[in-house]
Amino acid sequence: MRFADIKGNDEIKRVLAGMADSGRIPHAMLFYENEGCGALPLLLAFYQYLCCTDRHDGDSCGKCPSCSKVSRLIHPDLHFVYPVNSGSKISSSAKPSSESYLPYWRELCISNPYFLESELYNALGIEGKSGNIAVSEAKFILDKLSLTSVQDGYKAVVVWLPEKMNAESGNKLLKIVEEPPENTLFLFVTHAPEKMLQTIFSRCQSLRVLPARKDEVASVLEGQFSISPEQASVYAGISGGSVGVALNHLGEREEYNEFLDLFSDFIGAAMGKDLMSALEAAETMAALDSREKQKAFCNFAGDCIRKIFMVKSNMAQISNATEQELPFFAKVAGHCRDTFCEKALGCFDNAAQLIERNVNPKIVFCDLADRIFIYI
Ligand SMILES: [Zn+2]
Repeated sequence: MRFADIKGNDEIKRVLAGMADSGRIPHAMLFYENEGCGALPLLLAFYQYLCCTDRHDGDSCGKCPSCSKVSRLIHPDLHFVYPVNSGSKISSSAKPSSESYLPYWRELCISNPYFLESELYNALGIEGKSGNIAVSEAKFILDKLSLTSVQDGYKAVVVWLPEKMNAESGNKLLKIVEEPPENTLFLFVTHAPEKMLQTIFSRCQSLRVLPARKDEVASVLEGQFSISPEQASVYAGISGGSVGVALNHLGEREEYNEFLDLFSDFIGAAMGKDLMSALEAAETMAALDSREKQKAFCNFAGDCIRKIFMVKSNMAQISNATEQELPFFAKVAGHCRDTFCEKALGCFDNAAQLIERNVNPKIVFCDLADRIFIYI
């Protein structure tokens, strides 16, 4: 990540580059942002600049071995701490820690460094639970910092959402934040400075990361995430200046369209008595990326069935069906038996529970297709 990759916040970029150039760097800095506004990209660009062996024009080169390691988040002196919880992606006997989830953290940060808190929990497979930074993380930081820096430069500890630390972990960390080893930086990103341990907050130099302008958000969406200019403009307009929020809305929209297409193909095949096509749709459901997504599809399908029931009961106006959905739902409502909605709802609920219990999704969705085919 180079400063040039980040749109907006020119003043902060200038300040950060100036600190690195002069060598006068506060050892604890707090980047305060609204979700998804780019604090993490900014501090990564700053650390990359600090370590770059070929800085020029106020930016890192992006090419030297050091830049390459920072951009892949594998620089040996760059450490990350972030809220975690137990989840299916780590062994149940392992204590959840930032270290244990590191591959998932790296993958998310590299694909979208503007991610929202909920997107982190999805990526770690702990959605539905709230993450926290346990006291063991403070010990992990102390251990890492007790080693001499591997690359003979600055060591940095990025703490993403320090407000998720409880008092015990905060107090353990406080001493080293107050008196850090030489050439050690603490870089905090917060969405809620008022919830941070005040003793840590007061030790930091604060920087306010501002929301970007609409045209700046659109430019990042187009340039770095290959979003079409029309969509970039629409989603930048409802982003509140946050690239992360714009990407989140886009992702939800894409998933909604994907799910609606799949649901329509499936129910359409069942109505047309085309068992092969219904089974093909079931295969597509089983091939959705993750168990979380498969469950999300079952919940989505359950919602669709409820809307079909409302339409069938002549209550289309309060069914909450969108203009996009309504014609298809009306068609299903006109075709299916009176008992279908109740039975279909049970099928999708049951499928979601079986997926939760780790039953093979191919078996679950094949069985679902057979039942829907009979009940419709
Ligand atoms: Zn470089």
